Amino acid sequence: MSKPKLAIAWNSSCGGCDEAIVDIEEQLLDVAAKVDFALWPCAMDFKYSDVEMLPDKEITVALINGGIQNSHQKHVVELIRKKAQIVIAFGSCACLGGVPALANLTSTQEIMRNSYIDSPTVVNPEGKIPKAQSSYMGHSLTLPELFPSLLKLDDVIEVDYFLPGCPPTKKLILEAITLVLENRLPARGSVLLPMGSLCSSCERNESKPIDIAISSFRRIHEIEADPNLCFLAQGILCMGPATRDGCEAACIQGHMPCTGCFGPTKGADQGAQMIAALGGLISGSTKEDGQLAAASLPDPAGSFYRYSMAASLLGRKRDETRGTIDGKNHSH
Ligand code: SF4
Ligand code: SF4
Repeated sequence: MSKPKLAIAWNSSCGGCDEAIVDIEEQLLDVAAKVDFALWPCAMDFKYSDVEMLPDKEITVALINGGIQNSHQKHVVELIRKKAQIVIAFGSCACLGGVPALANLTSTQEIMRNSYIDSPTVVNPEGKIPKAQSSYMGHSLTLPELFPSLLKLDDVIEVDYFLPGCPPTKKLILEAITLVLENRLPARGSVLLPMGSLCSSCERNESKPIDIAISSFRRIHEIEADPNLCFLAQGILCMGPATRDGCEAACIQGHMPCTGCFGPTKGADQGAQMIAALGGLISGSTKEDGQLAAASLPDPAGSFYRYSMAASLLGRKRDETRGTIDGKNHSH
């Protein structure tokens, strides 16, 4: 009998999710003994034409990381969806947009201009910006079209399960693969993580006083933080109250506040939930007190939605003038 087939694909992400799979170390050999890899561009020389030749639903499970930002990525994930029985949005970029989705707050034109003209390390005296179609000495070149905003995976294809994390931990990756191989997956559409917030499993939760009064926020490097006390009680922004449990408080264990990489708790908007949680912790009662505390928070959008912008209420700043690099607008 043939072994189950596993496909792993990479879209707009840093590559850390692929790295995390390699980081399951020797247990990767156990996984490899139980599956046949059908696609893993980061590690093996598969061609997309190999996947095209497979019968539909031949791939047992696909772990797809990264958000979808261009026409090539859309084509690849649609192909994988057709060939796979189970698709898992793997990592926070696929589930929620991740850090690359913070670019949704700016326009495609600004991104291209910054990347190809304004960036201090770029030398481009003619100010050339890549186009989807171009020709040079009689040869034509077609590049993927850049979308006006980065989309999470389930904006583009149907997704069966979600495993957020930046990246998902070794334990969670092995658990997810085991659930598939042992046919013990929960209801379709589930997030493969515990339901509660990070605070519920954080060792510092017990040190959180009932009354926290924050007059201004401080960053971790600005004070000598107490390694046993809840970060919020020390006036340091910690996204624990609005972040899904599952990472075993990895950053807190390393004496760093949570930045929210496991995304929101069930059904919540991560930023709105965190702002609501902070609302009761600000000292003073006047509008000015609130404004003073808010002003001490650097980059509120990046702090509250660092990993979940594409899934947020704040959503994407949609400007009618935004288009792709070839000047066309795309709707999804
Ligand atoms: S706010 Fe942060 S430090 Fe405090 S209990 Fe929650 S996760 Fe732990
Ligand atoms: S503590 Fe927060 S930022 Fe760190 S791994 Fe866990 S969810 Fe991610």
